[in-house]
Amino acid sequence: MSDLVNGLNPAQKNAVLTESGPLLILAGAGTGKTRVVTFRIAHLIRNGIKPERILAVTFTNKAANEMKSRVTQLIGARRETTPEVSTFHSLCVRILRRHIEKLGYRPRFTIYARGQQETLARQVLRAVNIPTAALKPSEFLWRVGAWKNRGVPPENAINDAESDKDHLAAAAFRRYEQELKNRNAVDFDDLLIKVDQLLSEFEDVRKQEAGRFDHVMVDEYQDTNGTQYRIVQALAKDHQNLCVVGDDDQSIYGWRGAEVEHILRFSTDWPSAVVVRLEENYRSTDAILQLSNRLIAHNKLRSDKTLLPSRPNGDKPQIHQYRDEVEEAREVILDIKRRMDRDEFEPRDYAILFRTNEQPRAFESELRRVGLPYVLIGGMSFFDRREVQDIIAYLRAIDDPDEETGLLRIINTPPRGIGPKTVETLLGTAVQRGESVWKVMQDDEIVSSTGPKAASAIRNLAKLINVFREMAANKEKSFVDMLRELLSAIQYKVEIDRLYEKPEDRDARWAAIEEVVNELGAFEQKKGKRAKLSRFIDNLTLNDLDSTTEKENQLKRNAIALMTYHASKGLEFRCVYMVGMEEDILPHKRSVEADGAAIEEERRLCYVGMTRAEDRLTMTLALTRRRWGKSRETNPSRFLFEIMGMSDNPHAAAKRPKSQRRKPGRAGKTTGKKRKKA
Ligand code: ATP
Ligand code: MG
Repeated sequence: MSDLVNGLNPAQKNAVLTESGPLLILAGAGTGKTRVVTFRIAHLIRNGIKPERILAVTFTNKAANEMKSRVTQLIGARRETTPEVSTFHSLCVRILRRHIEKLGYRPRFTIYARGQQETLARQVLRAVNIPTAALKPSEFLWRVGAWKNRGVPPENAINDAESDKDHLAAAAFRRYEQELKNRNAVDFDDLLIKVDQLLSEFEDVRKQEAGRFDHVMVDEYQDTNGTQYRIVQALAKDHQNLCVVGDDDQSIYGWRGAEVEHILRFSTDWPSAVVVRLEENYRSTDAILQLSNRLIAHNKLRSDKTLLPSRPNGDKPQIHQYRDEVEEAREVILDIKRRMDRDEFEPRDYAILFRTNEQPRAFESELRRVGLPYVLIGGMSFFDRREVQDIIAYLRAIDDPDEETGLLRIINTPPRGIGPKTVETLLGTAVQRGESVWKVMQDDEIVSSTGPKAASAIRNLAKLINVFREMAANKEKSFVDMLRELLSAIQYKVEIDRLYEKPEDRDARWAAIEEVVNELGAFEQKKGKRAKLSRFIDNLTLNDLDSTTEKENQLKRNAIALMTYHASKGLEFRCVYMVGMEEDILPHKRSVEADGAAIEEERRLCYVGMTRAEDRLTMTLALTRRRWGKSRETNPSRFLFEIMGMSDNPHAAAKRPKSQRRKPGRAGKTTGKKRKKA
């Protein structure tokens, strides 16, 4: 025991040694909260708690993987079982697989990821005669997500609607839910909502699921939403061994229904709770910490916390402004390259953080140009890539062709002569008969009616699917071999070459496919005979990849990390670049328009970014930025002014003649002079 807690300060030690009962650790960034959770797991295991009786919930798969490997390091790898470290979503998938029948679903339900959700949303909006011009599928889903996360059922959504778009969305919400159920599918939000429902309505289920664990720990508790909160309560209320850690200043998922209230109310919920505060920041230099503290002090809604440096001095954070986003990317990458040439740090020590998904593109191409290794984490998820989705759809169709989403996606991908008209005929017949499209595809009369070319294409596709279904079922070949054969059977490489002209695009696309093959291989190796295609598809959908797979490789790979602020939560890097520090980016345009609490959340996001940095922090902005093909002038982020301790109101600055605008700080390198007047 003693050697384990040696590397901890007294407050941390106190938390680790509090072995039972409710425990709250409320502390600022970099104070060792996650470290305490990890050590506590190790400590409990050393004291005889069976690893599998411990559940630790983290926010991202990346965090889960990191925690798993840290625990393994502490307790040694020779144990037979491991603690269950997972995200809310993967925990919920496992619970649903065991009990979803109780809610009237078949156990082999499908999880709809973003792409499939959009396809469905489009169909639903069409079915209820809402034109895309009035409400885009993405706008619809955004609203549905907000309702679901706040626990608003379809029948109440209309009361909650304010704008025209809200009303349209409310009208289609019920249909969307119905369609999901008809397809035996759930979306990401449903994973949590259905589990919440199961645990609250079926006491036997709750008892069984809660009974699997003796200890529950939740990292980043400040970002739990109502549903997650209730799930945690339900799982922990029998034994009360619940340890939650978090920082209200890092609550950044308010837009997804997270309520910082949950962490602030913990002692009320659990009156016997022990509360531990950690005050020493071990991560960042004093120079970085001072500016971070100065920024977050601008938020009105926060609990009082002390954050003290344990690393004195340090390099002053820098702010650089550039002419446009191209120069910004070029100079940032050049800066990294120069430092690396001087052998200061390794690629993995660097992170480039951004707010929006358009931002990384320019950095990626620069990184490729100069030949530095990088990984893009979060943002556009691996799964959302078109080619990955295609392949998954094939696997889905092979696993269960009656499940429509897979089949409909691949029916003419790569193009095989089954045009939209033909698909409509098949779909129409299917709906009319209450059968699956796959069934209709076996009906020769219907198939023939689509014309000779389409008919033969349909028959060939059915044959292809059947061949691979059989291959998957008799397991003579591994899934990996099967997938390789499939790729060549459908000539997917040719399709990629057809779609993409540039060699580097082709390579990147093909590399993503290779990644799927690798995933499948790792999955198969891990599960042995128990490997099931459906399970693999689930895992991939959740991006919940196992040890040797993509995420882990990304971490192990010595590469510069590109990610959003949201994805960076909990992580740390020696050098952090926060790019695009402009109004309408950080703070995001949506939040600028909403103002108030929304701006406070953006400020927390900025704070999260800054507190990722250990040694060096660089912030950059472009004075003009291309949006929808047009170059436009930008305004420096108000947060820069706050960080620099300037009383200037950036809004006022924006309204002054441009020539009088103040720069937010002494930029090490300024090319603003070159800025043209609009
Ligand atoms: P965040 O709020 O960003 O999630 P956190 O509070 O979870 O941060 P950790 O990631 O656990 O903080 O720790 C931050 C860094 O400080 C890590 O590198 C960790 O190893 C180190 N650290 C934490 N506690 C100590 C300690 N007592 N002695 C030395 N290093 C420590
Ligand atoms: Mg942490």
